[in-house]
Amino acid sequence: MHAARMKGLLLDLLWPQTCAHCRRDLPRGYAEPLCAACLPRLRPVDRPWCARCGVPHPGAGLCASCRASASACRMIRAASLYREASVSLIHAFKYRGRKSAALWAGGCMARAWTRFPELGRPDALVPVPLHRRRLAERGYNQAELLAESLGRGLGIPLMRRGLARLKNTKPQWTLGRKKRLENLAGAFAADASLFRGLRVLLVDDVCTTGASLEECARALRRAGAQGVSAYAFAREL
Ligand SMILES: [Zn+2]
Ligand SMILES: [Zn+2]
Repeated sequence: MHAARMKGLLLDLLWPQTCAHCRRDLPRGYAEPLCAACLPRLRPVDRPWCARCGVPHPGAGLCASCRASASACRMIRAASLYREASVSLIHAFKYRGRKSAALWAGGCMARAWTRFPELGRPDALVPVPLHRRRLAERGYNQAELLAESLGRGLGIPLMRRGLARLKNTKPQWTLGRKKRLENLAGAFAADASLFRGLRVLLVDDVCTTGASLEECARALRRAGAQGVSAYAFAREL
């Protein structure tokens, strides 16, 4: 058994886990990171939504911002709304080191998959990469853990390498919409030998404006990917 996994199992035995949302103790051996009362507080995004970016939008067409400009990212969908339990869960695996919560959230994404037949059948899953400095701080890329579970659930291969984050950009939430795109210009690069002709599904934890997904999609398209869509665990509106 892998040493890190062994350590995780030992920690689970020694310290009872708490619900990532309400922080109540979870029963020993309980597999979910959210208690039974908080599980229903993971809510889906309600239809109707924009056919491209997935934000709530009346009718089946495109929202004003998708109509106004062409996108390299064909489509964005999310398994949950970034609210309540979903926010707590993301904080648990992003800032409190709870890797098992990310693997569980990837399983949720796999179960929600049937709601999005429009995403088709991608050839490969590609997690949105972290800059190597942030990866060193956190010790893991949460998007890669999500993609690992999702890939296992769907039987689609995961590409851990090939898309890199070159710029250690400021956290996106500190910036306004326009600044987010400027902040990310040229932030990602994809290896042309790996993606040519592939239909790629980008995987990330949260999608807010979709700016990082769009920059990743541009890099993948430049590298010859045939089509790029994206699937996030949560959608912030
Ligand atoms: Zn709870
Ligand atoms: Zn849209």
